[in-house]
Amino acid sequence: MKRIKQLNNRLANQIAAGEVVERPASVVKELLENSLDSECRRIDITLEAGGTRLIRVRDDGIGIVKDDLQLALSRHATSKIEEIADLNAVSTLGFRGEALASIASVSRLYLTSNASDDHQNGWKVTVAGEGLSAELSPAPHPRGTTLEVKDLFFNTPARRKFLRTERTEFQRIEDIVRKMALSHPKVGFYLTHDGKIVRQYPACQSEAEMDRRISSVFGKTFIENALYFEEEKHGIQLKGWIGLPTYSRSQADQQYFFVNGRTIRDKLVTHAVKQGYSDVLYHGRNPVFALFLSLHPSMVDVNVHPTKHEVRFRESREVHDFIFRTIHHVLADTRPQDQVEAAASTIDLGALPAQSNIVFQRPGTGSAAVGGGAISELPRHYGHILAQEPSADEAARSFQSLPDDGTVPPLGYALAQLHGIYILAENARGLVLVDMHAAHERITYERMKHASAAEGVKTQPLLVPISIAISSQEGSLVEEYAAHFEELGFDIQLASEESLLVRGIPALLSRSNTEQLLRDVLSDFLEYGSTLRIQEHKDEILSTMACHGSVRANRRLTIPEMNALLRDMEDTERSGQCNHGRPTWTELSVAELDSLFLRGR
Ligand code: ADP
Ligand code: MG
Repeated sequence: MKRIKQLNNRLANQIAAGEVVERPASVVKELLENSLDSECRRIDITLEAGGTRLIRVRDDGIGIVKDDLQLALSRHATSKIEEIADLNAVSTLGFRGEALASIASVSRLYLTSNASDDHQNGWKVTVAGEGLSAELSPAPHPRGTTLEVKDLFFNTPARRKFLRTERTEFQRIEDIVRKMALSHPKVGFYLTHDGKIVRQYPACQSEAEMDRRISSVFGKTFIENALYFEEEKHGIQLKGWIGLPTYSRSQADQQYFFVNGRTIRDKLVTHAVKQGYSDVLYHGRNPVFALFLSLHPSMVDVNVHPTKHEVRFRESREVHDFIFRTIHHVLADTRPQDQVEAAASTIDLGALPAQSNIVFQRPGTGSAAVGGGAISELPRHYGHILAQEPSADEAARSFQSLPDDGTVPPLGYALAQLHGIYILAENARGLVLVDMHAAHERITYERMKHASAAEGVKTQPLLVPISIAISSQEGSLVEEYAAHFEELGFDIQLASEESLLVRGIPALLSRSNTEQLLRDVLSDFLEYGSTLRIQEHKDEILSTMACHGSVRANRRLTIPEMNALLRDMEDTERSGQCNHGRPTWTELSVAELDSLFLRGR
């Protein structure tokens, strides 16, 4: 038997570093968090060889006083919390007091800082080499702190072996910087790699500058294809940009979610956002978004993971529901007029009221609130409208030139039909092209959804009740959510602790696999406290029905019929995309047409 020995400090730190310092990017993340916690305005990041040879992070924050410099490098030393109660409401990015100690144990570390305005007052500590003791020497430095980390993992070859190419390591650092820049717009970030300036995010003072930062992360076209919103409820705020469903990507690579300025990976959040997009996104596509959730620090536990990449919400169901509902509402309003106006506008953050329901910026029309009352009128039957006689006014208008008084509807007036597939229309900006079938499909679908929502969910009794074996955990869920199951159209009863009797199921779903559906619903309740499965299945069926019931290509429409379709699109939620997430219409402005013909050059 071997005897037990106390590990020495350095080895203990190196073990701790295993959790926190995985690669150069993790060092950068910790150093940036420290700088941001120091209330700085500007951060300069200098790298060599993908951060493996050198990582230098310099800030203009409050600095560290001389007497604290050595302490800053020791384990369990922090200025951010003092007692256990502080852990319940952490308002800084760091708080564990182990980053610098860990980094110092697996690299050569130089810390220079000055907590005064006298340039000459700076001090430097060095931790380089084995068996170190940190030494202190005077070093001029403006107010702020510079951390230099050289030769990462020089003394832990096992770790070094796991590093990828310099290019890959650099890209991971870039990603960290990008995330930090998104969540801290008031701070300037400047990134240099091997002597070249590779990224510059100047501090944002205005909304236009914030837009520029968003554009430099997401590309120039994002803002035109995104909706900005702010929503607050019960002390939780969600704001940010969500890409239109038509702006989706094949990869989930442009999705950023921040909780109190911290970037996180969270199953609950991912699920909530995905549900918010359900019904408008083409299968297998991924939305683009930058979302910022803010809530009181006591409502979220950040001390669940050493790298603080995961959080735990105290009211996770409430948070899930809030995120899902907000995004769902915002997307429900993607009608043609919003997109016409969004395209014509630049996003103006400052114009938003601080305390709001969901609000979009829409110059010209003021802002329109969504969130209540978006569903306006009773469904009209479309065939009905097609059969209507054209009013003289309408028939005449389509061949006149457009009035110049701002009364032209967003999608304009129909001019003609092309190949039995497209409607050509003229609006105030130019030419509008509509995919007739796709547009009609969405309109029919939304109407069927409203109609079925108005009727409520009907239960279809089963001739022979089904018995399903369940776990006792599932059994107690069935009891807890009895009322919900009834609302969803299930008639179920616990037969024993581990079996469930199903007497009736939601009417529209009679063809689906009851047992699988029930299990999925149960696991949704368990994990998220809510379920959209019934809704999704029902929507799927309605969507198929809508597709079959919609105007097929090659059907000739009269001008008034086309105009009626355009007006219906303007009235219908989500009519910017068909049920499969394809766009229903597009626009060519006169300027775009001019440039096609090289006019005015
Ligand atoms: P933590 O951030 O969890 O407190 P760290 O090991 O990262 O632990 O840092 C230890 C302490 O050193 C911090 O609490 C802070 O007081 C100080 N410190 C580190 N970096 C900076 C910086 N860039 N500016 C000012 N103070 C810093
Ligand atoms: Mg820290």
